[in-house]
This record gives sequence, C-alpha cells and structure tokens, in this order.
Amino acid sequence: MITVFDDLQRSHAPREFIVSGRPQPIPETPERIDMLMEGVRRLGGPIVAPPEIFGDDLARVHDRRYIQFLSTLWERWNRIPDAAETPSANVFALGRSNLPPASYPDSVVGQCGWHLGDGSCPITSKTWGAARASAATAAHGAKLVLEGERTVYALCRPPGHHAAADMAAGFCYFNNAAIAAALLTASGKRTAILDIDVHHGNGTEAIFYDRADVLTVSIHAHPKRFYPFFWGYAEERGRGEGEGFNLNLPLERGATLKIYSAALETALERISDFAPEVLVVAAGLDIAVDDPFKGFAIATPEFAEIGRQIASLGRPMLIVQEGGYPSPNLGLNLESLLKGLAA
Ligand code: ZN
Repeated sequence: MITVFDDLQRSHAPREFIVSGRPQPIPETPERIDMLMEGVRRLGGPIVAPPEIFGDDLARVHDRRYIQFLSTLWERWNRIPDAAETPSANVFALGRSNLPPASYPDSVVGQCGWHLGDGSCPITSKTWGAARASAATAAHGAKLVLEGERTVYALCRPPGHHAAADMAAGFCYFNNAAIAAALLTASGKRTAILDIDVHHGNGTEAIFYDRADVLTVSIHAHPKRFYPFFWGYAEERGRGEGEGFNLNLPLERGATLKIYSAALETALERISDFAPEVLVVAAGLDIAVDDPFKGFAIATPEFAEIGRQIASLGRPMLIVQEGGYPSPNLGLNLESLLKGLAA
C-alpha cells in the first residue's frame, strides 16, 4: 500500500481550541503525525510526497472567496490593532443562505464570522500552508488510484470532514476527502465516500448534499449529545437531485464492534447499490475505546475486522485520514485498520 504524506502538514500547531466556553489544549497536534507514521512504518510500503495543489483542485468543492480568505487571513488579521493572537469570530453569519451576495463583508472580522464555523478551527501563520498540503495529500492519493493503485493511504493532517464549501470547523480547513472525491468524479470515476470517524462528516455531507453523483455515508456518534450537534441525523437524506444520496447512521455513545458492524453492513449495502468504481474512506480513528473523545468502544484488533468488512466491497480505495487523537494505541489502530483494508 502506498502512503502519501507531506511534511509541511506539521507546521500547523495551534495551542488551544474552545471547549465549554474555555480555551483548552487542542488534541489535533503535529505529534499525531508521528503516532500515525509509526503504524505506517510497521505496515511497510512506499511513502511518497504529493506535488503542490492549485486553486482549481480546491475550487471543485470550495468557494473561491473562502480560499482567498484563508490565504490572506493571517496577514489581514495582524493588521488589526490590539487583536487577539488567534483570529476568531465574534459575529456569525447565521441564515447566510438567505442573504443576497452583496451581504459578504470586506472586513476581516466580518469574514471570520462568515468562514470560521466554531471555536475549534484556530488559525496560525502556518495554517494555510499545512491545510493546502493536507488537501494536496488527498488529491495526490486520488491521482494514484486513477493510475491503477488498489489501496492508497493519504496521511492528511489537519483533517477535513467538518470543512464545508465556505467554512472551517472542527479542526478542519479544506475538505480533503471531498476534494479527492470531486477529483475522481471529474475524472469519470463513480465515487462514494464512507465516513467512519466518530464525528459526523457534516462538511462532506453539505458539499455533496444536492448531488446524486457522489454518495455520502457516515457512521457516527449521535449528534444529540456529540459534536457537530446540528447535523448527522438520520433524517438528512440529501436534497433535490441529491435526495437519497446521503445516508447517516448515528449510533449511541459507547457502541461496541457488534453494534458498529451492523451499521457498517447497512452502509455497505447502500454503497454496493450505488456501485461506485472507487470508495473514499474518511478514516477517523477516534472510534477507538481509548480515544480522548470517548465516543465508541472499538479495540485495536477490531479495527482490522472493520477494515476487512469494508474491503469486502472489492473496490479500489483511497483512505483519507480524518480524526483520531493522541493515545498509546493510535498508531496500532491505524496499522490494524490498514491491514484489514488491504486484506
Ligand atoms: Zn472525529
């Protein structure tokens, strides 16, 4: 299995995010890379760096003014007298979909209210470069699949699945899995995304919500009491042409392999009906029993069983790293999952 990885992804290293109204140490750290890389190294296989990604590959799923905002935010924010170190929103563009296009502000503070979705997308001077490198990693993984690779792992960090077309959120800036899926689709490959992160992939859902050409499926902890709270309900099935092409399978907190596998079976049946030529797996490892977010209760060897179950679809796969936070088993969990997927 080829791994795609870009070292520039280490450079994004914010210190804090907001939990229960208070700044707390952020678990989405550069050290995650070392833990994940341990799993990759034990598994073996080549590790390749992606070429740079350009605006057109990002703009397949992201608004150009959002890309512009992220690329200039740090510099513009730092021109504000007495501003906090970390750009953040203090006003929010609620109901934005009903606003006329002229409502988009020129002020960087106003634009933060438009594009920064929550208290868990801190921006540093390095965020733009690292987020682009993460997107490049997924996009290059997609290109390798197009060239005939059966299973490719994209070690993406920061993660992507909470990022919408014009909004960062939940440690995510560019939606790596969506960028890869859009690239595959544009290249004529029918593509489905299976999101196994413990958090609902709300950004991915939003990006493809009106589309029938990309199926999105997410298994996650029930949002009634779990981030992202407002999305991830079973009732969200897609809209317009996209109706029936989004499937959410929320599970109660603490789900064990038995419960998880039953939901995965339902997910795989829907994906099989859709008959994709390529499957993008948005691979969050935070379903682990020892993950700090404590959503589900999957043990290290059980990741391999989940991987084998997904691999039974028999499709080429791009595995895009999403969440999964520092714990002694993070690298082992990745190794276990990838072993199962490659089986
Ligand atoms: Zn997650």
